[in-house]
Parts: sequence; C-alpha cells; structure tokens
Amino acid sequence: MPTLLVKNIHTLATMDDDRQEIRHAALFVRDNVIEQVGATADLPDTADEVLDLRDRYVVLPGLVNTHHHFYQTLTRVVPAAQNCDLFNWLQSLYPIWANLTPEAIYISAQMAAVELIRSGCTTASDHLYIFPNGSTLDDEIRGVQEVGLRFHASRGSMSVGESQGGLPPDSVVEREADILKDSQRLIEQYHDNDRHAMLRITLAPCSPFTVSQDLMRESAAMARSYPGIRLHTHLAENKSDVEYSLATFGMTPGDYAESVGWVGSDVWHAHCVQLDDRAIQQFGRTGTGVAHCPCSNMRLASGLAPIRKMLNHKVPVGLGVDGSASNDTSNMINEARTAFLMARVRELDAAAMTAREALEIGTRGGAKVLGRDDIGYLAPGMSADFIAINLDRPEFAGALHDPIAAMIFCQVNTVDYSFINGRKVVDQGRVTTIELETLVEKHNRLAYQLMG
Ligand code: ZN
Repeated sequence: MPTLLVKNIHTLATMDDDRQEIRHAALFVRDNVIEQVGATADLPDTADEVLDLRDRYVVLPGLVNTHHHFYQTLTRVVPAAQNCDLFNWLQSLYPIWANLTPEAIYISAQMAAVELIRSGCTTASDHLYIFPNGSTLDDEIRGVQEVGLRFHASRGSMSVGESQGGLPPDSVVEREADILKDSQRLIEQYHDNDRHAMLRITLAPCSPFTVSQDLMRESAAMARSYPGIRLHTHLAENKSDVEYSLATFGMTPGDYAESVGWVGSDVWHAHCVQLDDRAIQQFGRTGTGVAHCPCSNMRLASGLAPIRKMLNHKVPVGLGVDGSASNDTSNMINEARTAFLMARVRELDAAAMTAREALEIGTRGGAKVLGRDDIGYLAPGMSADFIAINLDRPEFAGALHDPIAAMIFCQVNTVDYSFINGRKVVDQGRVTTIELETLVEKHNRLAYQLMG
C-alpha cells in the first residue's frame, strides 16, 4: 500500500476533538487513511510520495458540502430569475430544467464537483430531483466519480404538480411508485456503507410543496430498512414555504416534518431559515441536522437562518452552497466566510460566530450531518481528505498572526492542494482529474442549448 508524507506544514488545524493546531506539522498517510499526525520531527522522514510544504502552507480537513443541486450550474444568472424570491425563481426555471438531458446532468455534475474541489470541498451531497428526457441519478454519479469527489448522491423527487396544488408544472413530476422503485434500485446498486466509502445514497423528496406526505413517509420507511441510508429535504426555507405548510397541511414546517417521521439523527433539512423555536429545540433533542446555505438564503431574500440559536441547542449544522442557480457559485470557503459574517449581522453581535466555528461547521459539522465518523477532522484512522493553502498569497499579507482564522477573515477562493481518499486531486492549484478548459467549453455549449 503506497504511503504519503506531507511535511513542514506551517500550521495544521486538525479540527480533532481537542481542536489541536500543530506548528511545523506533518501527516503520514497509508493508502487512503491517515496513519500519523504530529510534528514533522516526530513522524517518519520518508514515504513513497513526499510533499514538502516548506513551512509556507496551512493544512485543514477538507470542507463538507451538505446541500447542492449540481445541475443548476447550467442555469446560473438566468435573466428572468435574477431578482425573484424562491417560488417565482423556481417557476421561472422549471420550464428550462425540463430540457435537461443525461449529458447535461453528467457534465454539470462534473462542473460543480470541480468548482467545489477547487474551493476546498472534499465531500459533497447533491440533491437531484428532476429527471427529464431519460436522465437518471446514474448520470450524475458517473460524472462525479470521474472527478474524484467523495459523494453522497441524493435521489430527489417531485410528485405533486400544479394540477394537484403543487408548485412545479405537471410535466416535470414523476409517479410515486416509479420514484420508490428507482430509489430502491439506486440503493442496491450503489450505496456503500463501509468506512471511507466514496459513494453513498440518500433519499430526498424535494420539499413540502412538491411531494405528498405519503411519499415522505414511504421514503423514510425505505431508507430505514437499509443501513446508513439518510433522509434529506428542503424545510422552512422562507415565509411563503411556511404559509404553504400552514395552508395545505395545517401545520408549521417543524410539525409537518414530525408528522411524516422526518425528525431524528438520520435526517437533515436544508435551509430552516424560518424554523420556529419549538422545532429548533426538537431538532436539538433528536439530533435532526440542518444544512445552512447563507449565500442562497440572502440571494433569494429568504432571510437569515438562526444558526447561533441552533448551535446553542446542539442542532447538528453543516454548510451548503445550495444550487448553483441561487448562489450563483459553488465556493465552499466563501460559504463558510458568509456564514460567519451572516451570523454576526443576524445577532448584531460581533462574537456570534468565530472564524474557527465557521470552519468547524464546514468540516466536523458537515460530517456529522452526513452521518460520517471517518471525515471532518484529521487524526489517525480518518480518511485522508485534506487541503493546503499557501500563506504567501496577497490575501494573507499581514494576517499571519493567525493563519487559521485568516482562512475565514480574509477572502480565499481556491486551494493549492487537495487530497481526497489519499489521492491528489489538486496539485499547485490545478485539478488533476479532468481537463478543465474542455469541461467549461462543453458545459457552456449545453447551457446555451438548455435555454432553447
Ligand atoms: Zn436546495
């Protein structure tokens, strides 16, 4: 099994249980797993591959993205949807998304995965809930596997169209029996519940205004009949979402989630901007997770999620860049920085979130939300997922008193090195697994085609 030594790290933020930060540090990796973490002087001095960081780089665990819609990279900045709130934004985009093809799903997944990797993400969950023209989740999985991102693929779904009181046009919804059948197929074909798994499946009916309560209950029952299958959906994203829930189900979003069995440590909900205090307490008690997507929430004017309150109530919180068409980027470091700034504005308190807390929800928090005990921090026995950033960048000039906090306080957009499962996927700022220029060209061609 090949070994890798990363040595002379300026500062290694392990994010481990003691939040150790080690100066002049090193990591020793065997195959895809971290074997030793410590001072360079205390670790082996050779390996099959040695990366000497010359005391000029910080190293951190890779960031974990807990909510996204990769296909939306094709519909960024669509003029008709630039200044809309959630429901109008969706209604402007559904007819365009109805033109998606298997190739569009495949190429957009690669584009989003590359963008995430370049910005420090090493594990992502994606929520694909629209399958027009023969598209399947397999198209996305194939794309992401080729890029080398650790992946939690969510089998999303929409079953309640406009004629049944839902938001999407009838042409883009599926029959519930077909959704459940395909969900089972995907679990049995792809889900890997082993430690260090590169691919897991999640069941993810899209939102209260696109699926029935029956589908929510049946999806939960199916997920819970397999080991390690988690549940994910959108909840309490904005005021209209809450009003829909009250008008249609006679329940708040929190009560709705509980009524369909969607609370518990195997569930995480995206957004929760408008979640009430009672539901926050319940999420904390039950270990129900939240994917916090501050850029999207501000972009769509959904509001500022009460993240400080959630953290105080021990709600598991991870970060999500959300779909590329409501952000409109897939930059994980930027999302952590935005979460840090947003929490301070929401609470009007400059101590509402520290830089290290922002990094913590982006790493350990995301791992917990995705149910992983093998990623999120760097320690012996953990997956070899880590990033390195050069301190000689102009962004860090004058900030080296605390280079770890500088990751958040200063605007850093890309990483210099990234390793996922022990494999070097970014080398001196370049993605190693795919030819980026060709990908961008194909992606732009498909984006034009999609607009018709
Ligand atoms: Zn979303």
